[in-house]
Amino acid sequence: MLLENKIAIVTGATRGIGHAIAMRFAREGASVAFCGRSRNEAMIAVEQELEKIHSALRTPHSSPKSKGYAYDVADFASAQAFVKEVLADFGRVDILVNNAGITDDSAVKRMTEEQFRRVMDVNLGSVFCMTKAVQPHLWKQGHGAIVNIGSVVGIAGNYNQANYAASKAAIIGFSKSCAKEFAARNIRVNVVAPGFIETEMTADVPKELMDTWCSRIPMRRPGTADEVAQACTFLASDMCPYITSAVLPICGGMEDA
Ligand code: NAP
Repeated sequence: MLLENKIAIVTGATRGIGHAIAMRFAREGASVAFCGRSRNEAMIAVEQELEKIHSALRTPHSSPKSKGYAYDVADFASAQAFVKEVLADFGRVDILVNNAGITDDSAVKRMTEEQFRRVMDVNLGSVFCMTKAVQPHLWKQGHGAIVNIGSVVGIAGNYNQANYAASKAAIIGFSKSCAKEFAARNIRVNVVAPGFIETEMTADVPKELMDTWCSRIPMRRPGTADEVAQACTFLASDMCPYITSAVLPICGGMEDA
């Protein structure tokens, strides 16, 4: 297993890509501390799914476990409290995946200041808040892997998504800066940039529109959340000790990515 005995934090894992990352990490042997903004049915269901995976993996030498936490990772104090509680519960953190993110789409000519600031605050602000919260711990222990979820839109831009694209482009700049600052302490920082990924969010997209989108993807299909999770597993694992500051597109070969 690629993540045996590792302890991972995954933000925003109550559904979608974060959920797939949490499941994949658990199957690879990691303990998983995950969050959403509230302790709801979805969070409890994810805890139960993870426990099922972990209970099948437990041995006398390894006892992975998981727990869901209700914290808003875009809030500085809340991110600090989240990491403090995880360290108290798990004793250590080896991996941080900053996955939590939102969209609030609109053309720039109609976009409000609130729409712009909120998307920047959640998508970029959460990456800053969580990185600040884990950095002292990773620094002291002298190893760690941070994987930030960007988007191909942060590389290529997109209609009606200037706020989202700006937040995802900024994540690349932030990550590459952290990669430089943290490298001497053996802390790697990388970005995965998914393209069009099928999640609950895309389930209601009409078939005709889906076909149009897919016709622009050389692989002619959307990606799956687990395909993003597989790339995160690789970057979080000891399989790539010399990879830091990378931006890995997961987009079926979409242009501009
Ligand atoms: P999603 O289904 O909407 O899930 C977002 C997750 O983030 C939920 O678990 C949500 O939980 C959590 N969350 C949102 N704001 C939060 C906050 N302030 N604090 C804590 N948790 C928060 O989104 P997704 O499609 O899986 O996307 C996940 C990531 O991949 C995002 O960063 C997104 O930008 C990126 N991405 C997605 C695609 C795609 O096609 N889906 C493509 C490229 C990149 P609660 O609602 O319970 O708080």
